[in-house]
Amino acid sequence: MIRDHFRVLVVDLSSGQKSIAAIDGRDKVAGGSGLAAMLFEKYGFLDRPWNDPGQPLIFAIGPLTGYFPLMSKTVCAFKSPYHDQYAESHGGGRSALSLRFADFDGLVITGRAKSGSALIVGSRHIEIKDIHYLWGTDLHVAGKTLRRMFPGAGHRTILRIGPAGERQSPMACITADTYRHFGRLGGGGVMGSKNLKSIMIHGDASFPLPEGGEYVKVFEKVHADMTSTDMMSKYHNLGTPGNVKGLNDIKSLPIRNLQATADPAVAGISGERFAEVALLRNAACAGCPVGCIHIGFQRERFQEENRYIYRQIAYDFELIFAVGSMLGIMDCFEVLKLINVAEKMGLDVISPGVALAWATEALAKGIITTKETIVPLDFGNSSVYADALQHLAYGTNEFYQFLSSGTLKAAEHYGGGDFACVLGQEMSGYATGKVFFVSQALGLRHSHLDAGGYSYDQKHEDKNVEKAVEFLVRDEQGRVLLTSMVACLFARAVYKDELLANCLNSLGYTTLADNMDQVAQHIQKLRWRTRLATGFDPAAVKIPKRFTEITTWKGNIDKKYLNNLKKEYAKRILALGKEEKKE
Ligand code: SF4
Repeated sequence: MIRDHFRVLVVDLSSGQKSIAAIDGRDKVAGGSGLAAMLFEKYGFLDRPWNDPGQPLIFAIGPLTGYFPLMSKTVCAFKSPYHDQYAESHGGGRSALSLRFADFDGLVITGRAKSGSALIVGSRHIEIKDIHYLWGTDLHVAGKTLRRMFPGAGHRTILRIGPAGERQSPMACITADTYRHFGRLGGGGVMGSKNLKSIMIHGDASFPLPEGGEYVKVFEKVHADMTSTDMMSKYHNLGTPGNVKGLNDIKSLPIRNLQATADPAVAGISGERFAEVALLRNAACAGCPVGCIHIGFQRERFQEENRYIYRQIAYDFELIFAVGSMLGIMDCFEVLKLINVAEKMGLDVISPGVALAWATEALAKGIITTKETIVPLDFGNSSVYADALQHLAYGTNEFYQFLSSGTLKAAEHYGGGDFACVLGQEMSGYATGKVFFVSQALGLRHSHLDAGGYSYDQKHEDKNVEKAVEFLVRDEQGRVLLTSMVACLFARAVYKDELLANCLNSLGYTTLADNMDQVAQHIQKLRWRTRLATGFDPAAVKIPKRFTEITTWKGNIDKKYLNNLKKEYAKRILALGKEEKKE
């Protein structure tokens, strides 16, 4: 529904109270990232810990969701179990469209249910249902049961957590409709702390499309750009796994805990290899004609007499890097096996992969022993990693409890911080150089998608601190506008400012369309203000020594330049947060 305010459902799991709030601010924060930060200011507590029952778990969509393709992400915001500060995580699947057709721009969940529960949301029906009997089930069992319990395939999204989330692990994700995730910074742990196994949103309302020819004209233009030009074909074709070969070729692929940045053996896990032997089909988030989700298969013999079962497992570059090259696993079916274990447990795949790579090196160096790791972690041995992922999910012993709180937490206790591949959180798969390292280490989400540092590294050889930092600040600003519209960032080449303004105008959001620059600046500052107010100090961020020991296509890492970049970017972030305070 097109409206100039936000319609937000607020549910308190402790009391069972539900209310619908009409909240102003559409022309200031648009939706998505901006709306989530605004809702955290309204409902969150800066000074209480992340697992205080009063803290909100927030989901927000944007003004174009349901009307234009690839406006298909939902922004999830919370105080993170990973660092106890404000955090954002983005997920797709059917989540955004379901929320749109349940007629809500946002969902705020506070409180803690008495026992394992599901929150069911529709346009005419809201219920908190006791499903304690599903507590303890893995993602596959929970998904299968929930799908049977709540019919409505195609119109509903089922968000759920696994054992890692129930244990409130900072590495637990929220899975959306099997193949998409609110992956990083522990959103699954927040659901666990609320005794919330699942959120089911049923998009059961319908709306008329805008009248007049303008909307149809703009829609056709967007759709044609997405489907009949080659702008999006790289995402459909090999998809992001195409990056494996590309990064390896320029010595920028993290391998075996970043002890190397290139290895000919990665041919066994390249996008081309996956497509050749393991790709079954492509899938897409609801409302997306691109279909970048690549689904492979894992085949397993379960009886002597040639009886097999097979599972469908989605893969993308980040997952291949985390449980592939980072762990020295160079066979695509072994990678799929590890992705499957991590997902079944409800773990974000990236952080555990990177954490286990550190643990493997720590074991080899004698910093820890198999008394801690239980299994003999060894680069290239997928069977031991399959076991270790389960230990990490369940927190089997003190070591795995430390490690699942973050590699640096484990390193603080056992030593080995120099070779922890942590940039704010466990690194993304780009060892492209200094600008990326600073961008992820200080970025608000500690994600490679906060700003295109990885791309800047590949295009610039100069060492101009002001220019690089200006790029990071401006690029982040453009991206927060898109994530406030909840655009999939793969569509950033299509949704340029002019087209975005046309989309907004065609739905009647004219003030927003006329002020996109100011809105983007405001959202950027608002998010930084919120993050800083929950304790983030960008000036105190350290980049571990390992990142200065590598060689990329540009040669060795210039430590002085890295430090200057970090200092200058920290200053700019602090200034952004403070400017907003003055407003
Ligand atoms: S491009 Fe991929 S991630 Fe983006 S909306 Fe489409 S299917 Fe989802």
